Amino acid sequence: MSSTIADVAIGIPKRSLFEYLITDTQPCVGARVQVSFGRRKLVGVVMAIKDTSNWPIEKLKPIDKILDDTPIFSESMLTLLKWASQYYQHPIGDVMHSAMPVLLRNGKPSTMPSILYWAITQAGEQTDPLTLKRSPKQQQLLALLQQQQCADSKLKQQFSSAIIKGLHKKGLIEEVEKIPDVVNDWADHIESQLAAHPPPRPNIEQSLAITGISCHHNQYHPVLLEGITGSGKTEVYLQAIAPLLAQGHQVLILVPEIGLTPQTVSRFQQRFNAPVGLLHSNLTDNERLAVWRQAKEGLLAIVIGTRSAIFTPFKQLGMIIVDEEHDNSYKQQDGFRYHGRDLAVMRARQQNIPLVLGTATPSLETLHNALSGKYQHFQLSERAGNAKLARQQIFDIKNQPLDYGIAKGMQARLLAHLQQGNQVMVFINRRGYAPSWLCHQCGFVETCHRCDKSYTLHKGLNKLQCHHCGDAKVIPQQCAACNNPQMVSLGVGTEQLEQGLNKLFPKYKTLRIDSDNIRSKHRFHQMLDDINKGEYQILIGTQILAKGHHFPNVTMVLVVDVDGALFSMDFRAAENLAQLITQVAGRAGRAENTGEMWLQSHNPDHPLLQDLLHNGYGHFARYAIQERKSAQLPPFSFQTLVRAEATNPKVAHQFLAQVAQLFSGQSQILCLGPFPALMEKRQGRYRMQLLLQSNHRGNLQKALFNAMPQIEVLPDASKVRWSVDVDVQDFM
Ligand code: ADP
Ligand code: ZN
Repeated sequence: MSSTIADVAIGIPKRSLFEYLITDTQPCVGARVQVSFGRRKLVGVVMAIKDTSNWPIEKLKPIDKILDDTPIFSESMLTLLKWASQYYQHPIGDVMHSAMPVLLRNGKPSTMPSILYWAITQAGEQTDPLTLKRSPKQQQLLALLQQQQCADSKLKQQFSSAIIKGLHKKGLIEEVEKIPDVVNDWADHIESQLAAHPPPRPNIEQSLAITGISCHHNQYHPVLLEGITGSGKTEVYLQAIAPLLAQGHQVLILVPEIGLTPQTVSRFQQRFNAPVGLLHSNLTDNERLAVWRQAKEGLLAIVIGTRSAIFTPFKQLGMIIVDEEHDNSYKQQDGFRYHGRDLAVMRARQQNIPLVLGTATPSLETLHNALSGKYQHFQLSERAGNAKLARQQIFDIKNQPLDYGIAKGMQARLLAHLQQGNQVMVFINRRGYAPSWLCHQCGFVETCHRCDKSYTLHKGLNKLQCHHCGDAKVIPQQCAACNNPQMVSLGVGTEQLEQGLNKLFPKYKTLRIDSDNIRSKHRFHQMLDDINKGEYQILIGTQILAKGHHFPNVTMVLVVDVDGALFSMDFRAAENLAQLITQVAGRAGRAENTGEMWLQSHNPDHPLLQDLLHNGYGHFARYAIQERKSAQLPPFSFQTLVRAEATNPKVAHQFLAQVAQLFSGQSQILCLGPFPALMEKRQGRYRMQLLLQSNHRGNLQKALFNAMPQIEVLPDASKVRWSVDVDVQDFM
């Protein structure tokens, strides 16, 4: 006899689905169910329904409870997530969990909750409001509810509780609980809104891009929109989505974590006067679920969100836009290590909709896809209002005396700009006061023993802190090795730079912006406001400052050190530096206030720097693509990093050597390592890596897929913490 069986994905780190017996009502594929797993009750997602099992039926447990009457994952989302689970070699249950808001993982209802309403009773219906002579407010309330029911929260904005209670006591009105009536007519108003507030006329390049994107509705059509900051990319997004919205299609816009500014959001809101939902890391679980529900019901025209917003369900998704597509924050660095941009490409393909990747500084992967014809490529080369990019120059610091890392010549330039009433910005990629704290007599360096790295001195916090594991301790004033009481700091971080600039330019106010200093998004936006109001003249920051913010009054930008990136072990370091420099150059200054940007370097003739400065990012990137090609590095090859860490370095090494064995003899796959990670020790654990590389994505995928079950049962697998990072971005 055949029975009905559900394949359920459960949020535990196991690669398989689990079979449960359907005893009563059959759940939908894509709906959540509650099941018993061992002694625990867990929430899972039904991935398939079938009628046979390899297990004896009597061994299967029944589903305890069906949590959703309708699927919470559409068919195309299920396909996408199954693909992602295989592609990123990550357990399906955990992938499904990552794609849900926390409250849904915990079993909360997925439908809109019912809320309290006030309604008229039969007695109330037959009562003439005018008979309530003594209270005009009660008259009003009765008349209102005779027209229609009203939500409790809304009613209380107009009437005091006493008035409501009064009518309730008289038996004229009553409370009812119901799911709110949804008014879902935003699409009907788009055209009249645009007619009343016509958008600016696009220039020729913008028109080409808008038409190119708009004429491919209802089909997969990937576009790279490459345009310097201020060239009108956002305007292209706005005009390209307008016809879609008017047809009732929804739009998903992904932005980097720090790039989600109130200005961006209000631009979309104001243009269409339609509901926009926001998804970022500062939401409460309830807020997150609310946006999820509204998007699914079609109540939101637009959702703007960071990486994980790619999992938002939509009633009718019409386009995906990935802004600042090059940004590294799109890659998840732990657990389910997906790339938000790449999932956006897959989702657009899956759902047959256009996809726009916008940036001033395309990643080499995306640029390569555009240059090879896989993506349509539009360029915006002019800045609206004739604004120019800041002029970029190198300042040779060989043999130059430096104060707090800044050469004398650069100090003079900074002063000249300040004296003209402008703002200046100084970049350094190191937080804290100084990267190390050591003994002036014997050279002993205070080191984090768990990471084998020197502690960073944080004067503001009055602590030494390890930037790798976060460990902190009081600042010893005496050498732990020789007891000498003279300890000194070495090197310059943001904090010291700030102090130094205060000393060099005492007449001007400084503001430091780095992750130590930004405790909340609100505080950060406050700082940006204060800067643009001119309350500070000298801005000091790490690369956080470069992401998505305009500084119209900044006329000079100084990058204290570019040499680190030029000689980094990470082959993407130069690309990232070039992106940073170009992004900053595009965000400082404005039309009448063209800025200058200076890069301090010991290697002023370095070919990459020279190319970037003389020919711009586009040229640099095309050259860098050629270099990657001759070196057979991504995007010309595909890399997966297997990481392992253990308190004993030999164990980690041995495990990876066993993994390497599994790939030996596969001619299409290059297996490099095991070798120590760039950061060899962290939190007391030694970290080793094995790099798998192939010129064929499919081959690497297949080999990984076959190897995973074998890796899991390797003798040393349980002795190490290990992970697989497909399309690895960060080799730390
Ligand atoms: P980006 O997104 O590339 O930084 P924006 O779309 O924000 O560029 O455009 C920069 C500025 O120029 C904005 O203030 C925008 O309103 C304005 N702008 C863009 N395109 C036009 C246009 N065609 N006509 C007039 N102003 C425009
Ligand atoms: Zn540490």
